[in-house]
Amino acid sequence: MQKIASAPNLTIATLWLDVLRADGIEALLQRQYLAGGVGDLPPQQCLPELWVAEDAQAERARALLDAFLQLPQRQWVCRQCHEHIEGGFESCWNCGAPMPP
Ligand SMILES: [Zn+2]
Repeated sequence: MQKIASAPNLTIATLWLDVLRADGIEALLQRQYLAGGVGDLPPQQCLPELWVAEDAQAERARALLDAFLQLPQRQWVCRQCHEHIEGGFESCWNCGAPMPP
């Protein structure tokens, strides 16, 4: 097991987890339930963490995450369900419709 990154919140941690898993990396989250401890614990120790199960996959996982984080951050509105989409998504997370050209 090797830690790849700390995420600012659980939503982003889950997104990163999906990015790694989509590429066949066995990734998991740690500390994802500690947000309730903020106030009792230093906030930095309550952030969800992204880990890989296999140390051999750590380097590729970091490269994937770096590439993902360098995607242009876009904002667009889904033509089908009018959901507001932010981030590197090319399809609507609500209904799955593709991003308009
Ligand atoms: Zn939609």
